[in-house]
Amino acid sequence: MKTACINAMAVRGLLLHAATRIEAAEAELNGFDSAIGDGDHGITMRLGFQAMRRRLSELPEGMAIGQVLREAGKAFMGSTGGAIGVLLGRALINAGAAIPEAQDVGPDELKKVFGAMERAVAETGKAKPGDKTMLDPLHAINEVLSGSDGDVCELLSIAAQVAQTAARGTANMVCRLGRASRLGDRVLGHPDPGAMSFALIVAAFAEQARSLSQSTQVAHI
Ligand SMILES: [Mg+2]
Repeated sequence: MKTACINAMAVRGLLLHAATRIEAAEAELNGFDSAIGDGDHGITMRLGFQAMRRRLSELPEGMAIGQVLREAGKAFMGSTGGAIGVLLGRALINAGAAIPEAQDVGPDELKKVFGAMERAVAETGKAKPGDKTMLDPLHAINEVLSGSDGDVCELLSIAAQVAQTAARGTANMVCRLGRASRLGDRVLGHPDPGAMSFALIVAAFAEQARSLSQSTQVAHI
C-alpha cells in the first residue's frame, strides 16, 4: 500500500513536524553556527518555526496547499532576522506559487516545489552550488529527483538522504557569500548551518510522510 499524495492537512502536518525537529535541534544548530558565525542559527530557526506554527493554527481548514506554503513562508520571513529568514521564507512562498491549483502533493508537485525552492534561494541569495549555503542540499535534491521515480514518500526519503549528504559535504567548502566569506579556509571542516537545518527540515518531511503512509496501511488492513 502506498501513499500516492499528501493532501493539504498533511502538508501542514509535515511543516509542524519540521517545527518540532527544528525546535529540538536548537542547540545543535547554534553549535554549527558558532563554528563559523555568531552562534544564533538555532535560535533564529526556532523563532521562525514557532511563528509558522502559530500561523498554521490560525489558517482556515480548507485552505489550498499553495496558500498554506505561502502563509508558512510569510510567517517565517516576518519573524526571523538575517539572511535565513528571507531565504527560507521566499523559498516556501515560491514553492506555494509553483503549485497554485494543487489539491494534493504527488511526485510531480514535489519536484515542482523543490525546483521552485532552489530557484528562489539562488535568486534571493545570489548563491551558486558550491558556495557553502542551503542551496547545496537543494541543488543535490533536484539533481537526484529529476532522474527518480517513486511515490511522494519514496521521493522524500531519497531527498532527505541526499540533502543530509550534501549538507555535510559543505564542510569541505569555503564561503563565498556573507560574513563567513572573510574567514577563508578557517570554515573548512565545519558544515554550513543553513544547509544543515534545511537537511533536517527535509528529513522531518520524510519522517512525517512515512508515518502517514504507515497509518494509511493500517487503515487498509
Ligand atoms: Mg548567525
